[in-house]
Amino acid sequence: MSACIFCKIIKGEIPCFKLIETDKTIAFLDINPLSRGHALVIPKFHGEKLLDIPDEHLTDILPIVKKVAKAVGTDNYNILQNNGRLAHQEVDHVHFHMIPKPNQAEGLGVGWPQQKTDMDQLKVLFEDLKSRI
Ligand code: AMP
Repeated sequence: MSACIFCKIIKGEIPCFKLIETDKTIAFLDINPLSRGHALVIPKFHGEKLLDIPDEHLTDILPIVKKVAKAVGTDNYNILQNNGRLAHQEVDHVHFHMIPKPNQAEGLGVGWPQQKTDMDQLKVLFEDLKSRI
């Protein structure tokens, strides 16, 4: 039996406040919300990080994120998907957060440590990445 808490939610072995379900995806309320309406949208396919999830499962997710945001009726919100401990991932089953940002205090707090652009270095990086896609 899988120890994954989100797989248990998918199988109905532990409860959740389920908002939407399709054959590939479910959406439910986060139990420790950053703001009212904070919800999670997850693939039923178990994978730890984004690259582990087949495209056909990923394409089902974004329209559901959109439906949840519409239902919550929030003008300001963040869509967040963390990969790896350093990037604040706690549950090792891919999940997309829909986090309403009703005011400065509630919702997601984001650091945005922008670095100075060096166009030559950026071009080298660009050429390298382009050759890998
Ligand atoms: P992350 O840090 O991106 O891995 O976020 C994991 C999220 O899952 C957190 O916001 C938790 O509050 C949420 N969470 C953990 N367990 C449950 C659960 N049983 N039901 C709903 N949300 C959960």
